[in-house]
Amino acid sequence: MFQRLALIGIGLIGSSIALRARKEGLAEHIAVQSRRAETVATARHLGLGDSYTTDPAEAVEGADLVILCVPVGAVGALTEAIAPHLAPGATVSDVGSVKSAVVAEMAPRLPENVHFVPSHPIAGTEHSGPEAGFAELFEGRWCVLTPPPGTDAQAVEKLSEFWRRLGSSVEVMEPHHHDMVLAITSHVPHLIAYNIVGTAAHLAEVTESEVMKFAAGGFRDFTRIAASDPVMWRDIFLNNREAVLEMLGRFNEDLTALQRAIRWGDGETLFNLFTRTRSIRRGIIEAGQETADPDFGRHKKS
Ligand code: NAP
Repeated sequence: MFQRLALIGIGLIGSSIALRARKEGLAEHIAVQSRRAETVATARHLGLGDSYTTDPAEAVEGADLVILCVPVGAVGALTEAIAPHLAPGATVSDVGSVKSAVVAEMAPRLPENVHFVPSHPIAGTEHSGPEAGFAELFEGRWCVLTPPPGTDAQAVEKLSEFWRRLGSSVEVMEPHHHDMVLAITSHVPHLIAYNIVGTAAHLAEVTESEVMKFAAGGFRDFTRIAASDPVMWRDIFLNNREAVLEMLGRFNEDLTALQRAIRWGDGETLFNLFTRTRSIRRGIIEAGQETADPDFGRHKKS
């Protein structure tokens, strides 16, 4: 599909793209870039690309597809660094978990003769770095594209096809809409996990052994999410502030209602909500976005 794919950043997402693109033969040449020489060395050791560099300008030279796979807070400076070196007609994309802020950072810095098609694969794990990647990461997952109005339709279609070949289903959305949807489905849940694990860590000063010993009582599942990359998630909250605050406001109102129900012994309210939420989980399983295995398949023999 592409002559030269340049991956700027080669962590979990960049390396997973590299592995799957190689497997599917989506690019003749994969140019791998990372900021630190150690990461580049690891990527080389894993054989993720055809050429390796710490210099973003060198990586994008002659590339017809460039994808920034770095924390959201780093896209502005990197766009600045690559802009003068982009080939005319190239498609430039990213994988950031926030879209309005990324568009605002990247669009004004890009030359007019490239196609800008931001993307967000809704797929990930709590692990980071090039060793964390795997070719199946995007299989059966959604990838949202948020091209600015007026973007060349052929470029959007070609990038959509690229993501489909990586295993994803593709949906096109407005950046603001994307940010609201992701605030409630991903960003606020992560904030809740970070918060509850943080609260427990404070309590652990008194009850350390109990927190670890009885972790299976629900807490453990939060710790998986709360183990997600601190830089990536710091940048998400700093760059999706409005949508996260809006959704947190609603969350707090609903939490207050639950608090009241508990205080007044209103079992019906609790039961009705818990019944509704159980059916939501069934819906997610039916949509193929989760396994029905008990305990998230943790005890499955493989
Ligand atoms: P990662 O595994 O931590 O890898 C980050 C990459 O970015 C590394 O190559 C790192 O380089 C580079 N980098 C970090 N800070 C940088 C900076 N200030 N300037 C230049 N390069 C920098 O990250 P990831 O999980 O692949 O996430 C990358 C992007 O994908 C993020 O925008 C995130 O929002 C998005 N995303 C993540 C997930 C997920 O679950 N992880 C899911 C969907 C989308 P060095 O190692 O050389 O320092």
